[in-house]
Amino acid sequence: MKIAVLGAGLAGLSAAEELTRRGHEVVVIEKEPHPGGLAATIKRSGFEYDLGPHRFHTSNSEILDFVRGLPGIDLQELKRVSRIRLLDRYFDYPLALSNVLSTMPLHRGVGMMLSFLAEKVRGFYAPREQQSFEGWVLSRFGRGLFELYLAPYNKKLWGIEPSRLSADWASQRITVPSLVGLIRETVFPSKETVRSLISTFRYPRGGIGEISRALASGITGMGGSLLYSKEPLGLEKNGNGWRIALPDGHMECSKIINTIPVNRYTRLLGDLLPEDVHRSASRLKFRALVFLTVLLDGNIEPSDHWIYTSEDRYLFNRLSISRNFDPNVPSQVVFEYSCQAGDEVWNMPKDELLRSTIPGAEHLGLFSSDKVRGVDICRRSHAYPIYNLDYAENVARVLNALEDIPDSVTCGRQGMFRYNNMDHSIEMGKFAALEVLGEASVKTHFNWNENTWADG
Ligand SMILES: Cc1cc2nc3c(=O)[nH]c(=O)nc-3n(C[C@H](O)[C@H](O)[C@H](O)COP(=O)(O)OP(=O)(O)OC[C@H]3O[C@@H](n4cnc5c(N)ncnc54)[C@H](O)[C@@H]3O)c2cc1C
Repeated sequence: MKIAVLGAGLAGLSAAEELTRRGHEVVVIEKEPHPGGLAATIKRSGFEYDLGPHRFHTSNSEILDFVRGLPGIDLQELKRVSRIRLLDRYFDYPLALSNVLSTMPLHRGVGMMLSFLAEKVRGFYAPREQQSFEGWVLSRFGRGLFELYLAPYNKKLWGIEPSRLSADWASQRITVPSLVGLIRETVFPSKETVRSLISTFRYPRGGIGEISRALASGITGMGGSLLYSKEPLGLEKNGNGWRIALPDGHMECSKIINTIPVNRYTRLLGDLLPEDVHRSASRLKFRALVFLTVLLDGNIEPSDHWIYTSEDRYLFNRLSISRNFDPNVPSQVVFEYSCQAGDEVWNMPKDELLRSTIPGAEHLGLFSSDKVRGVDICRRSHAYPIYNLDYAENVARVLNALEDIPDSVTCGRQGMFRYNNMDHSIEMGKFAALEVLGEASVKTHFNWNENTWADG
C-alpha cells in the first residue's frame, strides 16, 4: 500500500512515521522547503528561531515517551515565566486575581471587583447569552477585566469583535476559578496558588523544530520520501486509489492522509464534494501571523519566555525571548503580528515592520535601534483557525462530508480546523495512520467539538 501524506507538520510527520515504521510506502508532500509546519525552527543566514513561543506539554504519557524517545531529542524541563504588559506594568500570566489586584491601580482594582460581583448578581435574574466569546467572558469575569484586557487582546489576535467570536474559543482555553476559590485566593494568597502559576514545560535543546527534524530523518531512514517545495494541484479518485496532480507530473497512491488547511483540501477534491460543502469550507477562515526576529548586541533583561502586549501602542501582540528557552541561542526577540494574509501588516517589508516595532520595544525597555544586528521575517497564512459564530456548523458539514470520501482521512490543526497543541497533532497523526490501516478512527477518538483539551 502506498500512502500520500499532505503536509509535513507534526500531524503529517507523525502519521508518516507510524506508517513507515509498520513497513508501508509513504510519500509526504510539503509546500515549504523544510518540515515542521508551525512547529518548525527557521534556520537561515545566521538566524535560528521558532515561530513564536512553543512549549511542549502533554497529559498523554505515550506521546511524551514517543517524543522523548526520538533520536537526538534532549527535552529540557523549564519553569514557565510569562507575563502581560498592561498600563505600563507587568501582570502574571495566567492571570491570578491576587496579582491583578495588587498590581493594578487601586481605583481600577476596586472597579474590577465591583463589576465582577455585579455580573454574578446579574447571572441570577438576566443571564447573558453564552454563544459568543463576549457573553461567556463577561458573565465569568465582569466588564472590568473584559474591557481592560480580554476584549482588546482578543480583538487584536482575531481581528474581529468579541461578540462575533465563538464562546468555544474561551471555553477551550480559559480556565475559570470558582467564586469561592477567587475570594479565598484574594484574601489568603497561598503558597500553593503561587506555585501553580509557575508551571513547567518541556523544550528540546536546539529548538522546537528538532522534533520534526527527528521525525523527518526517521521517515527517510526507514525508506519513506519527503517531497519539499511541492503543492498538490488536484486530487482525483482512481478506482481503489488516488491520482495526485503535482507541478511536475502525477503520482498514484492507494490512500491519502490530509493535514493541509481543510478548505484548500476541499478545493483539491473539487467535484467529489457537493456545492454546500464547498460553500461551508469557504466560510472557514484562518488568522495569519507575521514573525519578525530581531538579533541583538548584548543581553536582554527580562527572564520571560513570552510577554503579551494587548495595547495599541504595540503593533505586535506577543514577543518571545529565544535565549530563555535555550541559553545557546543568540540574543534575539521574536515578535508576532496577528493579521490577515494580504493585509497591510502582512505586506509590510521587514525594515518598515522593524521601524514600527522599535518604539514599542524601547517603551518596554527591551532594546534600542542601535542594538539591532540583524532582522529576519517569516509569514504564515494559516496560523489560527478563526472560531467565529458559525464556524462549528461549517466545520461539522465539511468534516462529515470528508468522512464519506473513501481511502482518505483528514487530521491536524489545519485539516480538522481545530485549535490543536503540538501533542494533539502528533496524536492525531498517529490515529490517522491507524485509520488508513483500518485499526482506529480519528473522528471517534477526537471529538473536535468537545472541550477536553483545555490545558493550553
Ligand atoms: C505562534 C504559535 C505558538 C504556538 N505555541 C504552542 C505551544 O506553546 N505549545 C503547543 O503544544 N502548541 C503550540 N502551537 C500549536 C502548534 O504549533 C500546532 O498545533 C502544531 O504545530 C500543528 O501541527 P499540524 O501538523 O497539525 O499543522 P501545521 O504545523 O500547520 O502543518 C501543516 C503543514 O502543511 C503544509 N501545507 C499547507 N498547505 C499546503 C499545500 N497546499 N501543499 C502542501 N503542504 C501544505 C504547511 O506548510 C505545514 O507544514 C503554537 C502555534 C502558533 C501559531
